Amino acid sequence: MIIDEFITAPAAVVGGGVAGLATALALEGCVVIANEPIGGGASKLAQGGIAAALGAGDSPARHAEDTLRVGAGLTDPQVAALVTGAAAGRIEWLRALGVAFDRGADGLPLLGREAGHSLHRIVHAGGDRTGAAVMAAMRQAVLARPDLRVLEGFTLIDLITAGGRVAGILLGRPDGTRVAVLAPQVVLATGGIGGIFDRTTTPSTSRGAGLAAAARHGVRLADLEFVQFHPTALAIEADPLPLLTEALRGAGAVLIDAGGDRFMTALHPDGELAPRDVVARGVHAITARGGEVFLDATGIRDLAARFPGACALARAAGLEPTRQPLPVTAAVHFHMGGIATDSHGATSLPGLWACGEVAATGLHGGNRLASNSLLEGLVFGQRAAQAIIAADARPPRGALAIPRGLPVLAADPARIAALRRQVGASLGPLRAAAPMQAALQQLEAWQPEARDESDLLLVAREVLGAALGRRESRGAHQREDYPAAAEPALRSCRSPEPAPLALLQPLQSRVA
Ligand SMILES: Cc1cc2nc3c(=O)[nH]c(=O)nc-3n(C[C@H](O)[C@H](O)[C@H](O)COP(=O)(O)OP(=O)(O)OC[C@H]3O[C@@H](n4cnc5c(N)ncnc54)[C@H](O)[C@@H]3O)c2cc1C
Repeated sequence: MIIDEFITAPAAVVGGGVAGLATALALEGCVVIANEPIGGGASKLAQGGIAAALGAGDSPARHAEDTLRVGAGLTDPQVAALVTGAAAGRIEWLRALGVAFDRGADGLPLLGREAGHSLHRIVHAGGDRTGAAVMAAMRQAVLARPDLRVLEGFTLIDLITAGGRVAGILLGRPDGTRVAVLAPQVVLATGGIGGIFDRTTTPSTSRGAGLAAAARHGVRLADLEFVQFHPTALAIEADPLPLLTEALRGAGAVLIDAGGDRFMTALHPDGELAPRDVVARGVHAITARGGEVFLDATGIRDLAARFPGACALARAAGLEPTRQPLPVTAAVHFHMGGIATDSHGATSLPGLWACGEVAATGLHGGNRLASNSLLEGLVFGQRAAQAIIAADARPPRGALAIPRGLPVLAADPARIAALRRQVGASLGPLRAAAPMQAALQQLEAWQPEARDESDLLLVAREVLGAALGRRESRGAHQREDYPAAAEPALRSCRSPEPAPLALLQPLQSRVA
């Protein structure tokens, strides 16, 4: 393989979402890489806001209790305590960066409430455009720092290792050029895996590239089977599907079937405000039979002023939310599992760190409490950076190696679409062994032609393996064939078989 350029840096951060930029801003010099302009990813799409115990009568301990309850027995109490305890400080930090959080007439932060939270504690900016406001401020801050080098439009191909630890990353560009960033510390902040499913609210950058790169090196992964579905994605021909925020239901919007009847009231005492996975299964039960579900927000006063983002999304699809119920479907929204880390984001491969949605820190357990993920990225980004600053910065010794790979970056979109349909059909909100085993067999026989295709296959196989292995129903992982929860509640861990390595020879480079 020809390497067109070698760059050396004290650290490399892959990902320009909330987790990657929080890490970069807390480091003293690094390269920040993203396959699109930084400040994007799922982070930019976040609508609800950031959970922080700022209200009267609230406390980090209460926020942690809610996180533990929703996590279905698998959330690590210490991680919940450290993340909720750091929330107020991280909101203050964002304010100092210039994020104008919404305030009431009394000047205090306006706090929203979402399912699973026992109190109002979601701070937001620009109504339902929190992610865009936060990411604009973080992007500006990164671009203003001369010690942060930004590489936009570069795709992660693989991790480079030397002597059993990480030594850098190999990147590709659409024109076929290859760049090796040699760095003793590498942070993966590449986001979630929604893009391996056919129906998702996450952007196309959420295809599990970081998770796949870690898996190829045999890095420990955890909780992979836990995938959260959002019950109210707008059911239109789009990819990703636009999300209709849960806050709409909090403000009084109701779910109805094609006959105009509310069905959630019969399924859960909290009706439309039942936990997100319960509502998602309620919606899925109807759409899986070929029926239709609608979110009726016409009864919300000042809908357009309170939910400008949701109204704009609906209107862009030719729907008028103030006058008509909106067609909705359940769609993949968040991955609780990922690369297993300690409480500073360190992974099982020395020098490799993970934070944000690609990581499994133990915060989300079997189900994520709404609006805890931007917070997790903000907190773990900073913690990983602090640990990296204190870590050994000497360049690793030994020959540089990368897993043997495919020369082409992107596969035929039709092949990717076929794979995504298969993954979506077998790993839905309600699972069973037979379809998962059939899908696994087909994916094992599938020969990838490009890097993105092999990443998708690898991640899908790992998630299917984990989902088949968990023979119980817990949190977001619900099985028709094992409807009860098993005791004790245990997190799942997998260490994939490492891929064969090839040496990265300096002679192969144009620039040494
Ligand atoms: C529609 C929507 C609404 C949401 N609302 C909320 C909310 O209100 N509150 C909340 O807490 N959470 C919310 N979430 C979840 C939350 O947005 C995400 O979990 C979080 O933003 C993930 O941040 P991240 O930095 O880990 O990843 P991302 O923000 O997804 O960033 C990933 C970065 O990695 C880069 N990348 C990916 N693959 C590659 C590759 N191969 N090569 C190079 N770069 C790569 C991308 O370009 C991007 O810069 C929402 C999610 C969605 C989809």
